[in-house]
Amino acid sequence: MRLNHGLADVAINWAGGLHHAKKCEASGFCYINDIVLGILELLKHHARVLYIDIDVHHGDGVEEAFFTTDRVMTVSFHKYGDFFPGTGALRDVGSRAGKYYSVNFPLNDGIDDFSYESVFKPVIQKVMEMYRPGAVVLQCGADSLTGDRLGCFNLTLKGHAECVRFVRSFGIPMLLLGGGGYTIRNVARCWANETATVLGETLPDFIPPNDYVEFFRPDYRLHLDPAQMENMNSREYLGKCRAVILENLRFLEAAPSVAFQDVPPDWAVRDAQDRIRESGGSLNPDVRPGMPGSGAGSSGIAMDGRREHQAEYYDGEKDNDSGGGGGGGGGHAAKRSRLAPNVGTTTGGGGGSAEDQDDAMIQEATGGKR
Ligand SMILES: [Zn+2]
Repeated sequence: MRLNHGLADVAINWAGGLHHAKKCEASGFCYINDIVLGILELLKHHARVLYIDIDVHHGDGVEEAFFTTDRVMTVSFHKYGDFFPGTGALRDVGSRAGKYYSVNFPLNDGIDDFSYESVFKPVIQKVMEMYRPGAVVLQCGADSLTGDRLGCFNLTLKGHAECVRFVRSFGIPMLLLGGGGYTIRNVARCWANETATVLGETLPDFIPPNDYVEFFRPDYRLHLDPAQMENMNSREYLGKCRAVILENLRFLEAAPSVAFQDVPPDWAVRDAQDRIRESGGSLNPDVRPGMPGSGAGSSGIAMDGRREHQAEYYDGEKDNDSGGGGGGGGGHAAKRSRLAPNVGTTTGGGGGSAEDQDDAMIQEATGGKR
């Protein structure tokens, strides 16, 4: 919504990007397709929305949702061939009004930064020229990184983030989403680095001391080195696929237009939208209404229309725990104790290594199938 109203250039949801979910079917760890819902919201304001997917798996749920329309173009780069979900062949280009508005680049194991860039940039450059989207949604699945427990590519953080930087360089409002990623410490590395990338910052390679630094043993570095693995994508193969896709893009009607009729209202409640508009963007997006510096009254409704829970946690004087009671010890102690159970369950802080925990999670979610 903030993108639609011109109040932000980039919106990020690293918890989103669940690209396999279908309208009536959960799939591949994905229950609700937040991407499709987000694109539907963008379509209320933009004639054309571009979806790009750099997860190692095919973005099948998003492609399927918009397979027959030219209002959304989907572009997915993924491992293809005896690999979940099994869709996303080069010949799958969309149908009816959506013909040539679905783009699939099938890849083989071991693709490295150089090879990936050699196909990603020319394809996206051409798509931007031909399609001229009003908004772009980029799914940044981190399972395309080297060393991923389910993936089979050999990208480093630099190659992955270069896709983000390149898409951002077109200056189009961008929704940046997470997705897959099963070597958890590398997922954290990847999305921290890409948050910095869209902010135009460069992070130092050495990870400074913090509560979680031990997960980045033994070298405490941000960046990853590529693995010694064969790149099964020959120059000839990549060149052939790239040529087919660029040829298909020539069939596009340049920048199809659409008549806006009966556009449904924005998703969020009226009240919050009015306050955003009336503020002319002066509301501090990082502060909830009622907090010092928010420039808004204490209505208890956040700018995106969510009503905040009474037990919402804050650092500082508004913190519910710091005023005595509830075990004492002040806000920070309360924060620690509240975080502790999560640390244990998500990262393996209690018993067993982080990798054992990752394995257990993947086994449980897949029923041991993949
Ligand atoms: Zn994936």
